[in-house]
Amino acid sequence: MAEHKQFRAIRGVRDILPPETALWNRVEEIAREVFARFNFQEIRLPIFEQTELFARSVGADTDIISKEMYTFADPPETYLEYIQKCLREMGHDGYRKFAEENPDRLRKEIEERGEVKLVSLRPEATASVVRAYIEHGMQVLPGPLKLYYMGPMFRRERPQKGRYRQFYQIGAEVLGRGVSFAADAEVIAMLMTFFEMCGLRDHTLYINSIGCNDQDCRPAYLARLRTELLKVKNKLGPDSQRRIETNPLRVFDSKLPEEQEIIDKLPHIAGQLCAACRLDYDGLKNVLSMRGIKFQENWRLVRGLDYYTQTTFEVTTPGAGAQNAICGGGRYDGLVELIGGPKFSEIKGVGFAIGEDRLIEAVKDSGKLEGIHPLEVYVAWFGNTSEKAQEVARLLRRSGFGVEIPVEEQKLKKSLSIASMKGAKYAVIIGEDEVASGKLTVKRLADGDQKKLSEPELVGYLKSDRRP
Ligand code: ATP
Ligand code: MG
Repeated sequence: MAEHKQFRAIRGVRDILPPETALWNRVEEIAREVFARFNFQEIRLPIFEQTELFARSVGADTDIISKEMYTFADPPETYLEYIQKCLREMGHDGYRKFAEENPDRLRKEIEERGEVKLVSLRPEATASVVRAYIEHGMQVLPGPLKLYYMGPMFRRERPQKGRYRQFYQIGAEVLGRGVSFAADAEVIAMLMTFFEMCGLRDHTLYINSIGCNDQDCRPAYLARLRTELLKVKNKLGPDSQRRIETNPLRVFDSKLPEEQEIIDKLPHIAGQLCAACRLDYDGLKNVLSMRGIKFQENWRLVRGLDYYTQTTFEVTTPGAGAQNAICGGGRYDGLVELIGGPKFSEIKGVGFAIGEDRLIEAVKDSGKLEGIHPLEVYVAWFGNTSEKAQEVARLLRRSGFGVEIPVEEQKLKKSLSIASMKGAKYAVIIGEDEVASGKLTVKRLADGDQKKLSEPELVGYLKSDRRP
């Protein structure tokens, strides 16, 4: 006999169950509605892509790429042996130690050899959207192109509330030649409309500008930042120390409590933007104010990747606890070129990704939104009425109501109690008396109100009694 074994979901990964799924569906439905009103169209993307796509676009010196991706080889059976072979030939043994000390080198080595293809589960979707945009030549479509997506993402992070290894994002991107602060404002306006329709009230929008790659803008600032960071280098942790060289802006991302005071004293980029970036940032703030969108400036808000330019933004809610960011976004003028080559270089983009798991928690806290609950009518039949009961159920379903009908006869009392437990709004009671008289009894379960109605009257009553 097989060994008795109980399976559980993998650490950091969870099931989302009813009735909560009803709320997820409602939120996704609102997203589709709102995005359609802003003329965004859905794009459905693969769950896995070449590892190099993410490494290039998200950036090698990020936690996501250096340690959080689920990567495997194609064909898969070669992977472990192949890694071991590579390590031996590179003069190392022991995978874990090597991987910790050289986050990105093994991947590069394997890619350079070109014998085995590496693929990863997607940790985010912007890279895929841009890849698809280039692959399908969408730059010839009347621009700008406005796309949205929703679905699971995968990052091997330390699991905790609001932080999972499979989590869900709802995101949108605008790609085209004319993308500037006006497009940023439009995207932010759509985002805020969406949150409002989800019933959120206490969320805060933070914005910043991280400048451009012109010599007198971000590069000049980064040189100054590096100098300041070197002065305090030995007070920083190993990640920040390394980033002084590789990507100093990312030091602002640090969540280490002991680094915060030091970071707060570093020079702000806002004071060092070039004239064009300053104009763009002022433009964004003006348009947001004009549209009545409240925001706060946060100079530490960097999406510290090379391809991000100018606008960055984030939305937080108090409900989400320590993991309080429910959305991150920004402009990425360099990304298309980075992935697709110089001929697309004039194409710019702006977008955001909402963390749906955290959004749902915030929506629950606000209590303003109800999930879509399909069950409206429970057909409580007893005696020799099965045929009539089936006919009524068919009629009600055809008229658009969610109906449950027990397959076997049940005592009325039992039917009514199951109907309440399942959250039905009405019970339609069908006994032999009802069949004989042609009048069915309908009971509103919330207050017990009871009526006797013919079938057409029943449909009319249920429709008129429905909440708007
Ligand atoms: P954080 O600073 O919280 O790690 P992030 O900067 O890594 O967020 P982004 O890559 O900008 O996040 O993703 C956008 C949104 O996706 C985040 O604001 C968050 O709501 C959500 N998110 C990111 N990682 C996770 C995760 N592991 N579990 C649940 N939601 C996540
Ligand atoms: Mg993160």
